[in-house]
Amino acid sequence: MNSPKLARMHTAEHLLSAVMRIFFKAPGNLEFHLHEKKTKCDYAPVPALQDSDFSKIEELVNQEIARNHKVVDRVITRSEAGDFDLWKVPDEADEIRIVEIGDFDAQPCRGQHVERTEQIGVFRLLSHSMRENGRIRLRFKVE
Ligand SMILES: [Zn+2]
Repeated sequence: MNSPKLARMHTAEHLLSAVMRIFFKAPGNLEFHLHEKKTKCDYAPVPALQDSDFSKIEELVNQEIARNHKVVDRVITRSEAGDFDLWKVPDEADEIRIVEIGDFDAQPCRGQHVERTEQIGVFRLLSHSMRENGRIRLRFKVE
């Protein structure tokens, strides 16, 4: 069964951001443009990425997709949010939905996601470009 394309893209963004954080020391996704055909995300990895890192990023995201993690959510209050990065959460929200992808990632988010990561399909990095302040913009799609 096919999941809606945006849900697949959106869940892929969670995996990409987790890969960037865990393997490339890039804190949260700094800017995010979600589209059905192509999604853009900005990161500020320290140190800067090498050319060989891009195929590694793609490989790591696809590896997590293939583990077919279950995607579940639970609701917590703002006071329980502790160390979570709340960049996607409106300031006035007191209840915060945490989206967990197996044992790999947990992020606050209100978007739509797939139920299992294999539903995402294949993750492809399309291009990258350097932006101001050492940021890098990654563009990807799912097939
Ligand atoms: Zn999300």
